[in-house]
Amino acid sequence: MTAKFRFAPSPTGYLHVGNARLALINWLYARKIEGEFVLRLDDTDEERSTEEFAEGIKEDLTWLGLVWDDLKKQSDRADRYTEIFEKLKAEGRLYPCYETGEELEYKRKRQLARKLPPVYDRSALKLTDEEKQAFEAEGRQPHWRFLLDQEVVAWDDHVRGRVEVDCASMSDPVLIRTDGRPLYHLPSVVDDVDFGITHVIRGEDHVSNTALHIQLFKAMGATVPEFAHIPLLMGPDGGPLSKREGSLSLRDMRDEGLEPMSINSLLARLGTSDNVVGQYDLAKLIEGFDIGHFSRAAAKFDPAELKNLNAKILHEMPWELVKDRPELEGCTADLWAVIQGNLSVLGEAKLWTEVTYGQINPVIEDESFAAKAAELLPAGTLDGDSWKSWTNAIKDELGVKGKALFMPLRQALTAQSHGPEMGKLLPLLGREKTLKRLKGEVA
Ligand code: GLU
Repeated sequence: MTAKFRFAPSPTGYLHVGNARLALINWLYARKIEGEFVLRLDDTDEERSTEEFAEGIKEDLTWLGLVWDDLKKQSDRADRYTEIFEKLKAEGRLYPCYETGEELEYKRKRQLARKLPPVYDRSALKLTDEEKQAFEAEGRQPHWRFLLDQEVVAWDDHVRGRVEVDCASMSDPVLIRTDGRPLYHLPSVVDDVDFGITHVIRGEDHVSNTALHIQLFKAMGATVPEFAHIPLLMGPDGGPLSKREGSLSLRDMRDEGLEPMSINSLLARLGTSDNVVGQYDLAKLIEGFDIGHFSRAAAKFDPAELKNLNAKILHEMPWELVKDRPELEGCTADLWAVIQGNLSVLGEAKLWTEVTYGQINPVIEDESFAAKAAELLPAGTLDGDSWKSWTNAIKDELGVKGKALFMPLRQALTAQSHGPEMGKLLPLLGREKTLKRLKGEVA
């Protein structure tokens, strides 16, 4: 039997780092055991789900390289949910309730005041047919609750180990709203059954849902899948993730120019016992992936760490892997070797391509210094040794050294006060450009 995984975002917003991490973990696990990865759009909430967000999610996953084998939309499957709804109803696993929101809230407050757990008291189960008819005559539509078996539900979680949830302490969950629309649980389990999902990996906020879902799988006569609940991401200080620290949506990260493989490399290992290592290739992340290495403790996501990793990846990125990227239009393998160690995002390469092969307006503060420097430029083709002999000659002649020597040259030749090693850049600039720039000409 093929293992099947699913990532099930609701298209009510763009993907943020927490969703992306779950998508990646599902994808890596699926690839690791040669299973399938299904993208399921949980778009039953008609008011909040949009086509734009659905497209955005697909774009973001594609950008990360997380290709799905199958795409499903819950909005296509309303008839199937109704069918299972009717079946569970006929079997007595769903029962109609007529309480209004206020009535339920009142009950809850009373229970809390008496220090009782705020669990639904199942009073709707005791309604007679006449009472139900009377409610409906009043214009009340029922919502439908799932009758939980009051038992301990247990499973062996890939991350949490043995988990036991006592369903006696849970309220019977509402599966169908008064307007007849199903809430998350029923469609989710029906889909997991129909699509043959063998592994459900999701956030640990779903642990108690899983207990109820296991009862639903059984009520449908289906095999219960394996589960893994991944601890949520926290901010760098252990508090909730906040945008103050940096971008949290994939869209913003892309706009910032971060590499998808930096994001993948970090998210694949965050919260595990493995070291974070920058990789260029998802295959390497699949190789090292082990769901058993995820810890039960919350993982900390630090956008600053992501930026550092991005820089590190670029510093070692082979030219062959980047040469076709639009950010490197006009760049060469030689220039890449000179500048890559200075980049924090790929887009910064544009500046150095312009400096090296395009035109700049040089910055000259001391014209006589620049003129003297031009005179002392070594004859012939500039090579890897030219910078050293050139600056030595200027030092001997003018008695300047250190920053006072190097900065005016850098500014004249690049119009920047920082950047790659000048000794390596000089041969690429070449003699003609160097002399023109020392004269202050745009070149
Ligand atoms: N749409 C649900 C969510 O985003 C899916 C949860 C699940 O994986 O079952 O929380």
